[in-house]
Amino acid sequence: MDIASAKDNKTTRGPLVDRTIPTESRAEARTRAAKLPALELNSRAASDLLLLSTGAFSPLEGFTDFKTSSDIVENMRLPGGSVWPFPILLQTEAAKAKDLRLGSEIVLKYHGEPLAFLTLEESFAIPHAEWAKKLFGTGEAAHPGVAGFLTGGDVSLAGKVQWFGDTAVLGLDENWLTPKETRAAMEQRGWKTVAGFQTRNPVHRAHEYVLRTALEVSDGLLLHPLVGETRPEDIPAAVRMRCYRALLDEYLPREHVLFAVLPAWMRYGGPREAVLHAVVRRNFGCTHFLVGRDHAGVGGYYGPFDAQHLLRSLAGEGLGIEPICFDEIFYCHRCSSMASKRTCAHPRSEHLILSGTEVRRRLREGLALPQEFTRPEVAAILSAAAREVSVAPKI
Ligand SMILES: [Zn+2]
Repeated sequence: MDIASAKDNKTTRGPLVDRTIPTESRAEARTRAAKLPALELNSRAASDLLLLSTGAFSPLEGFTDFKTSSDIVENMRLPGGSVWPFPILLQTEAAKAKDLRLGSEIVLKYHGEPLAFLTLEESFAIPHAEWAKKLFGTGEAAHPGVAGFLTGGDVSLAGKVQWFGDTAVLGLDENWLTPKETRAAMEQRGWKTVAGFQTRNPVHRAHEYVLRTALEVSDGLLLHPLVGETRPEDIPAAVRMRCYRALLDEYLPREHVLFAVLPAWMRYGGPREAVLHAVVRRNFGCTHFLVGRDHAGVGGYYGPFDAQHLLRSLAGEGLGIEPICFDEIFYCHRCSSMASKRTCAHPRSEHLILSGTEVRRRLREGLALPQEFTRPEVAAILSAAAREVSVAPKI
């Protein structure tokens, strides 16, 4: 780890896009919206819309057009040269797109509630097969990200957005902070170096070790769990949130941790998605991003260190945030502490490593998780959740 590099030119938060209509003009926006053609979004598009509008996807100001999307797919760059790994598409059915007029305004709705205007600049057919292979490294429909992409709609609508909606429609509460708000909170605390962290898994001792290590060498931590759409077999966001809260309340220093949710959905895009997660954290004000093994990967499609290699290769090439990479973390009985291959000399037989399958089995059967693996407060939350879903256990 080389936290000193936070002070060089590799990290830059950059300007934030703001595509939100001021509060005082929102009533007028709603009145205007009532007269315009509308498009109902799914939860993924609604997430992307909010992230675009609030600057989480800066420098993007709207859903990407064909040229921009192609440059991203081919080069992982925007036409201006900035690092950007995934086109932000507004996928829809050709039948729904055909009556929409280019240059006109459309209202984007979610659950029937108007959220934003889209100025329709382009409507284009998505070259699904070609882009899936380049984005995900596979065209197989067994990959959940590819499956979502292939079935999400044949046409994409592009254009700038302007948000006037209520984030409660997306199920968000006071735990949602915009990039502007997290940057202000970091500034207020006087943090110069901030490490961003996310996982879509419950927080075990291994994650805690990563958080503590980051805190040893940076001013603050943005604990930023992803709460958008994930696979049904992943742990529900509400349960993960309770686990984070328990850790925060009982074990971590409040004054050095900022806790907020990221309403992004999982593409399961491995290395490319790791880049997206890093760039988004840069926009939220982080100087560093914590990356474990197989970040954003799924089902063996990516090598355990592919995401780390890609992030490191881009760190000095315009990524704007420094990755801090970790190997597998475990409890070592001989060391009597958490460790990794980099810090422990002992054989694997000394290491406490439980697979996700084993953790789920123990919880289902009401068996305790060792406290070297999970804090008792977190284990209690997971056990309770496992009992609640005992018909179809997901924990
Ligand atoms: Zn050891």
